[in-house]
Amino acid sequence: MLLFKTVQDIDNQLKSLKKKGLKIGYVPTMGALHLGHISLIKAAKKRSKVVVCSIFVNPTQFNDLKDFERYPVTIEGDIEKLAEAGCDILFLPSVAEMYPNGYENPARIDFGFLAQTLEGGHRPGHFDGMAQVVEKLLRIVKPDVLLMGQKDYQQQLIVGELIRKRRFKTQLVACPTVREADGLAMSSRNVRLNTDSRKKAVEISKTLQWAKSQIANRESDIGSIRASAFKRLAAVTGFDPEYFEIRNTQTLELPRSKREKLVALAAVKVGGVRLIDNMVLN
Ligand code: AMP
Repeated sequence: MLLFKTVQDIDNQLKSLKKKGLKIGYVPTMGALHLGHISLIKAAKKRSKVVVCSIFVNPTQFNDLKDFERYPVTIEGDIEKLAEAGCDILFLPSVAEMYPNGYENPARIDFGFLAQTLEGGHRPGHFDGMAQVVEKLLRIVKPDVLLMGQKDYQQQLIVGELIRKRRFKTQLVACPTVREADGLAMSSRNVRLNTDSRKKAVEISKTLQWAKSQIANRESDIGSIRASAFKRLAAVTGFDPEYFEIRNTQTLELPRSKREKLVALAAVKVGGVRLIDNMVLN
């Protein structure tokens, strides 16, 4: 695996690979890699000849400075995992390399409701920062295929919009969420859970699963399923649920009927660690 730290160096390498007509698959990450990330690398390998991964903890997408400072960094382990998974190129830029002219983004895109709701409402500025860095990275790597996780459901919808609005030629592939044996969605933040919180965290995916079964059995209306699910999360000691919502899978608008394709999305602070998860319901 080749490792590049500057835009110039990775650009030179990618140009020569593209000249040979090789298809590029790309997986952007913030590191602290787990099997969820590795599943994206494997999906990229299936779809392209050259697999590029980046690790960059992007300061502009953290609305909470403490969350940024506590974000786990495990570069050496990450490099080993990537090499083992068959990643070809790792891009590891510094903050100065990504933001040579400072953090300002005069060309920000207005994603409308898609970026205002759910995570957008609870993490002001998060999606602006995320879209800013993903756009920069796409302009550097210019991949044929971009692989992202459904774990960050709203994020992959917004990146889809970014690709459309900027007319990038990249194809976005959203890959399924990889879970621990008990159902907890894998996340870099899980390492910050203490033993008690880790045990309880499984309630998030259990509640999503419960909502799915309620929809399947047509037990009750969407509003009461949503409210019961939120109550169920709030009843767990140490849980501070921010939201549990059932939305249209494409627009994230409130659904008008169960015939629409639905996704349930939740954000919960568990022992002080903010976790998100979601499940497509039908
Ligand atoms: P992150 O490093 O958290 O920014 O995530 C990088 C990419 O990995 C994003 O596209 C995430 O959606 C994806 N990802 C994170 N966790 C998982 C998971 N458990 N399963 C599948 N993809 C994931």
